[in-house]
Amino acid sequence: MRERLQNKPVQNQFDISGLDLPAILATIEQEVRARFGEGEVADYIDALAKVPLDRFGMALVLRDGTIHEIGDSRDPFSIQSISKVHTLTMALDAVGEALWERVDREPSGDPFNSLLQLEYEKGIPRNPFMNAGALVVADVILSNYAKPEEALLEFMRARSGSADVGGDDVVAKSERESGFRNIATANFIRSYGNIVNDVDAVLDFYFLQCSLGMNCVDLARSVQFLSHSGFCDVSGKRVVSWELATRINSLMMTAGTYDAAGDFAFYVGLPAKSGVGGGIVAVVPHVMSLCVWYPGLDEKGNSMLGRYALHRFAQLTGLSVF
Ligand code: GLN
Repeated sequence: MRERLQNKPVQNQFDISGLDLPAILATIEQEVRARFGEGEVADYIDALAKVPLDRFGMALVLRDGTIHEIGDSRDPFSIQSISKVHTLTMALDAVGEALWERVDREPSGDPFNSLLQLEYEKGIPRNPFMNAGALVVADVILSNYAKPEEALLEFMRARSGSADVGGDDVVAKSERESGFRNIATANFIRSYGNIVNDVDAVLDFYFLQCSLGMNCVDLARSVQFLSHSGFCDVSGKRVVSWELATRINSLMMTAGTYDAAGDFAFYVGLPAKSGVGGGIVAVVPHVMSLCVWYPGLDEKGNSMLGRYALHRFAQLTGLSVF
C-alpha cells in the first residue's frame, strides 16, 4: 500500500506548544499493542531470550524536565548498545579530538558486530557505535579513568537522576560466556595496537556497560543533555559543549542504528541509538530526548516496534531534523 505522506508540517520545528503529546503517545501505544509479537528477542543470552513480546514503554523528556510516558516506561531492561552513547561521551571528555585518531566517524553499512572492515582498515573501527568502535572507546576509558567502572555508573546515575542504575552480573557473565565475537574483535584490534590495555579488562568493561539495567524514563533523561546543547538539567551540569552535543547527535544519525541508519534517517529523521535489549533512545535537538522499548528485534538488531513507534512519533509530531 502506498504511504500517505504529509503535505504540511504538523508543527514548526522547535515549537511544540500545539502538540498534545499524551494523546500522541496513547495513539502510538494503541497501534503498537495491535502488533505485539512481531520481531524476535535476542537469543544469544538467556536474560534477553526470556523477555516476553508484550512489553512496550515510551518516555519523552522535554527541555524543561517535563516527562510524558506510557506503557512499561518504568520497567528496567538491558540497555546493551545504548550505553555506547554514554561511553563515547566519557571518552571524548577525557581525550577530546584525539579519539578520532583511533576511531573513525563513518557509517559502516555492516552489522554491529562485523569484523569485515577492520582488517583492511588496519584496526581502526568505522565508528564508535559498532562493537569494534565501542571496544576502542572502552580502552580509552580504561586508560583515562582511575576507576572506570565506578566512573561509568556515576555518569549514568548523574545523567538519569536514578541512584538505582547498576550492572546485572548475570547478564554480564552470559555476555562473556557467549561473547566469542566480541572477544575475537578485541583481540584483533589489539593485534593492530589500537587496544592498549589488557584485552580481558577492556572486555569486562564492555560487558558491564551492555549489562546495565535501566528503564525508558532513566534512559531518556540520561541523554537529555544531547537535546539541550550539552547541558544536563537532571544534574544541573554541562556535560559537553553545544558543538560536541551536535556532533554526538550527528554520529547517532549516521551510525546509531548500524546498517539501518539510512532507513532511520529516512523514516524517523532523528538521531537515535539502539540496543539489542530492544531499547532505542532518540533526540529532537533543542526540544526533547526520548526512549522507546519493545524487546522484539528486526533482522538488523533494532527494536521492531520501537522503530515503528519512532516513525509514527515523527509523523504525528512533524518533528525531524531535516
Ligand atoms: N551485547 C551486545 C554485543 O556486544 C550488544 C550489541 C547491541 O546492543 N547491538 O553484541
